Amino acid sequence: MSIFNQIYQRMYQTTIPDEPVCQVCQRPIELNRQFMDIPCLCQSCAQAMQKVKKVYKIDGIHWYVLYVYTDFLERLWFQLKEQKDIVLASLFLADEDVDLRSYCVCAMPSSEQKRLNRGFEPILEVFRNTGIDVYSPLYKTANIKQSNQPKAKRQEIQDVLQLKSCYWMPNKPILLVDDVCTTGATLSKACTLLSTSKVFIISAHPLWMASQQPNEVANAPWIW
Ligand SMILES: [Zn+2]
Repeated sequence: MSIFNQIYQRMYQTTIPDEPVCQVCQRPIELNRQFMDIPCLCQSCAQAMQKVKKVYKIDGIHWYVLYVYTDFLERLWFQLKEQKDIVLASLFLADEDVDLRSYCVCAMPSSEQKRLNRGFEPILEVFRNTGIDVYSPLYKTANIKQSNQPKAKRQEIQDVLQLKSCYWMPNKPILLVDDVCTTGATLSKACTLLSTSKVFIISAHPLWMASQQPNEVANAPWIW
């Protein structure tokens, strides 16, 4: 091959884009998926993200659940939170036309220790590309994982949630957002601290969803 041909071939190769790979499992993305709603996931990962869009009415407040917290989502959150694969945060709302301008969106907090270890707040990363301002009027005074605790201790755990004083927020109905709902206890506590209008949960545990089945609002309109 002539030197010109070699140069031409090298230049041509640099213009070919890399084969797109799934952001979760790193396997190549099937050709038929590359123009889909969530183009950065392979078929099996996209299917494993079980979107449910269920609405519950709990103590007069509407709670909106986007995904079921399956084993797949547990691994996904772990990869995002503990392995700091922050880019995964954009997956959850990637194919949604999120419009929450009429609300003051408030995030449930991680503990200070978690936030310092991670260097980011996962729920804020989920909303980063939506252009929505997310406020953090709450804080936790200790780092206790709710799901590891016996029922009797959960009241104590709820007491670690506190409201910041002198924290400015826009005067709009409050939409409380959380990444994972396991027992709902901390979210319920937050509802009492803030005059919450609605609750939006990215992923809810199937056991919690089963327990809330009597509160499910069938055919309720979605939040956006
Ligand atoms: Zn995949």
